[in-house]
Amino acid sequence: MHELSVAHAVVSTVLDALPSPDTRVLQVRLRVGELSGLVPQALEFAYDVAAQGTPLADAVLVIERSPIIIACSTCGDQPIASATDFRCPVCGEPCGDVVGGKELEILDITLDDTALANADLVGA
Ligand SMILES: [Zn+2]
Repeated sequence: MHELSVAHAVVSTVLDALPSPDTRVLQVRLRVGELSGLVPQALEFAYDVAAQGTPLADAVLVIERSPIIIACSTCGDQPIASATDFRCPVCGEPCGDVVGGKELEILDITLDDTALANADLVGA
């Protein structure tokens, strides 16, 4: 299951970013592209498994989907509605040049304030 390896990678990335190993994580926000091949529900399930016994165990996983973006030679970057129709939504030109939608990013993480007192914040 692809999602499980992704979930483990997300958990270990967040753990590396924590100011101290006992910092509690309250929320993790991910951006998952429509073309990433990841199923959000499966990712949530995998995340629960991967987070067990870590400071992320109680953290809420928030998944934002990001659209597929194609680069039309006439109209520039345009989001499209589905991965079955790669035509520019503006001029209708067929377009196979995908420039967005494959991403998997950690947008931000929310840490328990009480543990944050003097910590340098991650990425903020
Ligand atoms: Zn176009």
